[in-house]
Amino acid sequence: MYKVGWLDSHAHICGKEFKDDLDKVIQNAKDNGLVKIMIICSDLSEVEKALELATNDEMFDVAVGLHPNDQKFLTDKDWDLFYEYAHNEKIIAIGEIGLDYHWHKDNVEKQKELFIKQIKLAKNLNKPIIVHSRDAMKDTYDILKEHKCKGVMHCYSGSYEMAKEFTKLGYYISLAGPVTFKNAAKPKEVALKVDINKLLIETDCPYLTPVPFRGKRNEPMYVKHIGKYISELRNIEENELKEHICENYNILFKKF
Ligand SMILES: [Zn+2]
Repeated sequence: MYKVGWLDSHAHICGKEFKDDLDKVIQNAKDNGLVKIMIICSDLSEVEKALELATNDEMFDVAVGLHPNDQKFLTDKDWDLFYEYAHNEKIIAIGEIGLDYHWHKDNVEKQKELFIKQIKLAKNLNKPIIVHSRDAMKDTYDILKEHKCKGVMHCYSGSYEMAKEFTKLGYYISLAGPVTFKNAAKPKEVALKVDINKLLIETDCPYLTPVPFRGKRNEPMYVKHIGKYISELRNIEENELKEHICENYNILFKKF
C-alpha cells in the first residue's frame, strides 16, 4: 500500500538550482505533507544523485530522458549512457521526452526522431513516458497515437478538447503552477473538467512557481498550492483530491 498526501509528479531537484540547499528543500516537502516526489533528470549528470536519494528514501522515484531542447548537443556517448540508465530498475519512467517548437523550430525532424526512439525503448522496457510538448501539440498527438505507449502529459498547457484525446490514448494530464495564474484560462478549464482519474499535479520546479509565490524559485512543497487551487475549483475536499492523485500516480508508475 502507498501513503496518501500531496505529491509532486515532476521535480528537477537534482539540478544546479538546488545544489546548496537540497536537504532543506526535501525537509520543507516533508513538513508540508508531501509523500512522493518524482525526480526528473534531464541532465544525465543528475542521475547518480537522484538514484542515491531513491535508494535511501522511498519518498523518491526517478525518471530519466533526453529532452528535446538538448537534441542538438547530444552525442552517441550520451545516448549510450541514457540507454544504460533506462534499464536500471530504480528508474521507473522515461522522461521528460517530447517536442519543443517554442525554443527549437529548425530541428523538428531530429526532435521527432529522438522522441520516437525513446518511446520505443520505453515500450520495450515496459516503462511509462513523461511527455514535454511545447507549441507542438498536433505532432505530439500524432506520434503518441501511432507509437502506442502510456504516460503523462507533463505541465499540460493545451485545450480541454485535446486533453480528452490524450486521455483516450491512455495518457494522464499533469497540471503545474500556471493553473493558479490569473490569465491561464485553458489550464483552469482542464483542471475543472478533466477526468479526475486521469489527473496529476506537479511543480516542474525550479520554474513556474504557483501563486502566491510566483517569481520565487519553485520547490516541491509548493505543489500543495496547486492542489488546493484545483480542489477549490472542483469544489471537492483536499483529501479527496489527494486520494485520486496518489491512486493515479500509483496506477501509472507502479502497475504499468
Ligand atoms: Zn520538466
